[in-house]
Amino acid sequence: MLYHSTNNSAHRVDLKEAILRSLPPDNGLYMPDTLPVLDKSFWEIWRELTFPEIGIAVADAFFGEDVPPQALVDIVEGTVSFDAPLVTLGPGDHILELFHGPTLAFKDFGARFMARLMAWLTRDDDRKLTVLVATSGDTGGAVASAFHNVPGTRVVILYPKGKVSGLQEKQLTALGGNITALEIDGSFDDCQALVKSAFLDRELSEVLNLTSANSINLARLVPQSFYYIHAARQLPEGVAPTFVIPSGNFGNLTAGLLAMQLGLQVDHMIAATNRNDVVPEYLKKGVYSPRPSVPTISNAMDVGAPSNFVRMQALFGGSWETMKSRITGITFSDDQTRAAIREVKSLYNYEIDPHGAIAWLAARQWRASHPGSATVSLETAHPSKFPDVMDAELGAHCVEIPERLAILANREKVSIPLPFDITIFHDWLRRAL
Ligand SMILES: *Cc1c(COP(=O)(O)O)cnc(C)c1O
Repeated sequence: MLYHSTNNSAHRVDLKEAILRSLPPDNGLYMPDTLPVLDKSFWEIWRELTFPEIGIAVADAFFGEDVPPQALVDIVEGTVSFDAPLVTLGPGDHILELFHGPTLAFKDFGARFMARLMAWLTRDDDRKLTVLVATSGDTGGAVASAFHNVPGTRVVILYPKGKVSGLQEKQLTALGGNITALEIDGSFDDCQALVKSAFLDRELSEVLNLTSANSINLARLVPQSFYYIHAARQLPEGVAPTFVIPSGNFGNLTAGLLAMQLGLQVDHMIAATNRNDVVPEYLKKGVYSPRPSVPTISNAMDVGAPSNFVRMQALFGGSWETMKSRITGITFSDDQTRAAIREVKSLYNYEIDPHGAIAWLAARQWRASHPGSATVSLETAHPSKFPDVMDAELGAHCVEIPERLAILANREKVSIPLPFDITIFHDWLRRAL
């Protein structure tokens, strides 16, 4: 299979280049030349399949031409070694828990698949692959965990000193092995600027065999479509779900569109956002106006220029009418989010995180105007990742921290402090790697 840039369909590359390069040089995004469809024989038996079996079928549809069957099985089984259960709160009100992975957020699915696929693609290369990633919190943890001990790879994470939470920092700094954390005296934007400067230095990027692990990589998108099919399978036969996706860069929602493309019967898609509502505004008015993000309590969705929007447009052939006939945008404020966290706790004794709370609100609004629909709200992270908000709404220590996160508290932090300085950073890379 070949992959083309959304900006130029004549710029085509193979799988290895699309995954390792991540971004086409023209700043578009890579899309597969043909969008796969799962055939009738899959849809006759899909309800009996396990989560990994669904993943293997989807991965084969996308990558089967380029990756042999046993390698794909290993990659998928290594990725989905934990479940994504559907929890039902009330009639038609389902929550898809995507936080059962090692770093407690759905980003584990994409990061784990990407790490394994990259390791396979570079299996015969004699040079180590260096993954460079800037993080403001969750992404770095998922990437570090995913690449930890993956042969032939090493990861350098840049994070802003003093600007990530204590447990988040431990997720970046306590793994050791092939994971190195650089504690930058600067902001998240400074970290991103440093990463960018390394990629722009052709010679450095070549010598170190640099690759990026950012969220627009196709290898992160495809495995996220596994759980849409797995969720629908957990509903009664014949029920077509309405998926409600709390969105920032819209990778998760785009993965849902890929699942529909594969043949999954979906009633409707809801793009749920906080005040950063560029896409809901587009769906309502047909005008797309990206702008700087504003901070909210659902901060993983504080995105003002969603990077996957161009993929959404490509999937609908650029037609606003078609996109809005399949996706509805709904937006909520921080006050509404806080009230929802309290309400879900008091009605169902369920602790929902700020991102999932926005999805739950949007789902309730949708069911009110579309009686009988079955909504599946994506719970994208475990509530214990947001202690400030949860403690404020539900009382101190109300949310238990899962063991796999809690044990990090006692591990030693190991980081290398660096100033925000391109020359010093490049020197460090050359010397240390
Ligand atoms: C990254 C993230 C999101 C947003 O996902 P996108 O794919 O960028 O739309 C939502 N919730 C949580 C908890 C996240 O970490």
